[in-house]
Amino acid sequence: MIVELINTGSELMLGRVLNTHQQWLCRQLADLDCVVSRQTAVADTAKEIEQAVRESLTRADLVITTGGLGPTSDDLTRTAIARMLGKEMKEDAVVLAQIQKYFAQRNRPMPERTREEALVPEGALVLPNPNGTAPGLAVEVRPDQSRSGNNVGWLIMLPGPPRELRPIFANHVVPLVKRLFPSKEPFICRTFRTAGLGESVVQQKIEHPLRSLVEAGLELGYCARPGQVDVRLVSRGINAEKLTAEATVILRAQLGADIYGQEDETIEAVIVRLLTARRQTLALAESCTGGCIAHRLTNVPGASAVLFGSFVTYSDEMKRKLLGVRAETLALHGAVSEEVAREMAEDARRVTESDYAISVTGIAGPDGGTPEKPVGTVFIALASLRETRVSKMFNPWDRLTFKEVTTQQALNQLRLRLESLL
Ligand code: ATP
Repeated sequence: MIVELINTGSELMLGRVLNTHQQWLCRQLADLDCVVSRQTAVADTAKEIEQAVRESLTRADLVITTGGLGPTSDDLTRTAIARMLGKEMKEDAVVLAQIQKYFAQRNRPMPERTREEALVPEGALVLPNPNGTAPGLAVEVRPDQSRSGNNVGWLIMLPGPPRELRPIFANHVVPLVKRLFPSKEPFICRTFRTAGLGESVVQQKIEHPLRSLVEAGLELGYCARPGQVDVRLVSRGINAEKLTAEATVILRAQLGADIYGQEDETIEAVIVRLLTARRQTLALAESCTGGCIAHRLTNVPGASAVLFGSFVTYSDEMKRKLLGVRAETLALHGAVSEEVAREMAEDARRVTESDYAISVTGIAGPDGGTPEKPVGTVFIALASLRETRVSKMFNPWDRLTFKEVTTQQALNQLRLRLESLL
């Protein structure tokens, strides 16, 4: 099966919006064994969209477009495609009712132009959009307009905003693709998420033990991100289950506690789950991460049951006033030191009466480094009733990567600690 993706939007061509659909959709489709063979981005003019779709249909069984389903003058995808395929557009009463309900629930009048979003090309399947007004659409393409001239093709149109596109894809496109293009052979794709190891170390640990399975057909892939490496296992055919099961045992044996989750699980979700199960609580004292650790944890539903709060104490004064870090400690060792990290964590734990507290203090750069404490130096402390452990890290990256990596390391230390107590 050949799949092509067309992202529409002049904002993509102008570099105003990062084309995250491209990455997200390719990943989701690859996990369904539908690897995208070509990606195109075009400006939102009818001519560009028509041309891109027409060309893609000569090559692909399934073409997915994103963007341009809204009510504004630059939203032309639906009409351009319907015209190209020679399909009439008809107002769909159910879609119109959903749009009216969307506005009524928000106590807002429905702009007249929004009615256009209820126009559906004849014969199209409507893919409901509970997070917006324009639904996704799936249209069957006649054999003479599609790839081989023999098989029908499918064209799926999805709206631009990610918070609308992603649920439509997960809830409607995935089942539709599975139904329209059933896999000819078993296919299993698993992603294991690791933290704390570099990509080459991960590779070194697993490559040799997995070699015979790779020779038997297992595909092995790596994806490195700040502070984490994902390992992807893909197997096909009648041995897929067996290969995956054997590879999983080897991965777990080789990587052990460095694996923090599977598929889309995040380290912060693991922490919230573990703390909730143990009925324990957490506080944070962040300096150089500026609240990133709290941000990540508060993205997890249910975080309020375990996270008491976060002190973002960037200056020495705030470290003293809010947390109670001693002036002598700051003067003697400096704000970026093992001693200050220790006091920050212990003070945060004491002030909030939480079970655990994490603190971070470091030099993000580009200025402020010294020969003893160069840019990238970070101290992370984890305080509990039993003890306080401080680790020194070195993350000499740009400021944002520094914050991301440090946040990941701090979360990982707590995760390892909680898992060791299981
Ligand atoms: P709307 O009803 O919001 O107009 P639409 O289906 O017409 O939806 P667009 O107008 O093309 O979609 O895009 C709406 C917004 O969605 C863009 O401003 C942008 O923020 C986001 N968006 C569009 N395409 C992409 C993309 N490829 N990657 C990431 N975000 C995107």
